[in-house]
Amino acid sequence: MKINLANIKKAQKLLNKCDCIAIPTETVYGLAANAYSNIACKKIYKLKKRPKNNPLIVHYLNNQILKKDCNFNNDFLKLYRVFCPGPITFILDLKKNSKISKIVTNKKNTLAVRFPKHPITRNLLKKLDFPLAAPSANPSSKVSAVSSNDVKDDFGKKVKYVLDGGKSSIGVESTIIDIRNKPKILRLGGLEISAIQKILKKKIIISNNP
Ligand code: AMP
Ligand code: MG
Repeated sequence: MKINLANIKKAQKLLNKCDCIAIPTETVYGLAANAYSNIACKKIYKLKKRPKNNPLIVHYLNNQILKKDCNFNNDFLKLYRVFCPGPITFILDLKKNSKISKIVTNKKNTLAVRFPKHPITRNLLKKLDFPLAAPSANPSSKVSAVSSNDVKDDFGKKVKYVLDGGKSSIGVESTIIDIRNKPKILRLGGLEISAIQKILKKKIIISNNP
């Protein structure tokens, strides 16, 4: 898909003002806001009618930028090298001096992070001075949006801007893995567990109870 730089500029401007907008990713569309700003992140919860105790996934351009906010380990780096950017979300330990909003984490000392592959959202992330907190762009309990029209159908004018990136190529949420100790899958999604297993070469627990 062609990248429309004027649209990306518009998205950048709104995000810099702490507004919440919809962004395309290869998994599903997200409702995105500045992950360092309480004001911006509160808008996501309000728009989505999301319970405050359900923490958000934060989207980064790469692991160099993530270094400011989280601690890594070898298992993370192994998976990062093979699958990122892509449909995998990692639970990592937050650094004490991280600027991530407490609204994002529900005051936990862990953070869910992902590196989206969609070229439009990567271009946008390159232009921002902050990562993007972005849960799926659907009201809580409804199915996730996979096109800009889906987002508009769900939210109408309540969402200030939808950055169009065509149809999400994967169309299901990311696989979530807690990688801090024994690798534990918290949500099945766009990346097969067998592919993760092949790289880590160790037992992976599957849990519905994060
Ligand atoms: P979504 O609304 O589709 O983006 O879903 C995000 C998912 O990530 C939810 O199921 C959250 O519970 C999960 N999540 C976010 N942060 C954390 C965390 N620190 N630990 C465990 N799960 C998390
Ligand atoms: Mg969701």
